[in-house]
Amino acid sequence: MTPAELKALVRTIPDFPKTGIQFRDITTLIGHGEGFAATVEWLGERVAGASAIAGMEARGFIFGAAVAARLGLPFLPIRKPGKLPCDTIGVDYELEYGLDRLEMDPSAVTNGQPVAIVDDLLATGGTASAATKLLRQAGAEVALAAFVIDLPDLGGGNLLRANGVEVHALMEFE
Ligand code: IMP
Repeated sequence: MTPAELKALVRTIPDFPKTGIQFRDITTLIGHGEGFAATVEWLGERVAGASAIAGMEARGFIFGAAVAARLGLPFLPIRKPGKLPCDTIGVDYELEYGLDRLEMDPSAVTNGQPVAIVDDLLATGGTASAATKLLRQAGAEVALAAFVIDLPDLGGGNLLRANGVEVHALMEFE
C-alpha cells in the first residue's frame, strides 16, 4: 500500500480530547490488516541498524513491539510512572499543561547499544525527546526514530534532529 493509501486509513476526530484539537486516530489504521502490516514494514525499514526498539506507552507499544518482532529484535517498553515492577530510572518532562514522567528498566540496554525509538505520532517532540534522554541515561545510543504520523508545524522533528536523532515519518498532517 502507498503512504497516501495508509494516510487515508487514519481517522480524524474533531475536538478530542478537548475543543479545537484534531485528534489523529490510528485505531482505524491498525484495524486494517494490510494497512497495519504495511505500516510496520515501513517503520522497520527506517530503523535498520538498531539492535533494539523502544516504544512509549501506550500507542508506541502497538507499533514498536510489532516492528521489533518483525525484525527479531528486543522490545524495550518505556512506561508511565509506577508501572514497571523492577528498579527503574526516569525522566520528568513538560507537557502543554503540567509535568509527566517516563520510566524504564536500566538493565534492559547495554552500554553503547544502538536503540531506535518507534511511536505513533510526533507532535512537539517532548515525549520522544524525554525517551531519548532516558535511553541515553541507561547507556543506549539513540540515533534513529520512526513515527507513523508527524505534525511538522509543532516542531518535534527539529527538536529531535537538534538532539542528534534522525527522524522518519510515514505521513504528515497539518
Ligand atoms: P509530543 O510529546 O508533543 O510530541 O506528543 C506526542 C505524543 O502525544 C505521542 O505519544 C502521541 O501518542 C500523543 N498524541 C498527541 N497528539 C495526538 C493525536 O492527534 N493523535 C494521537 N496521539 C497524539
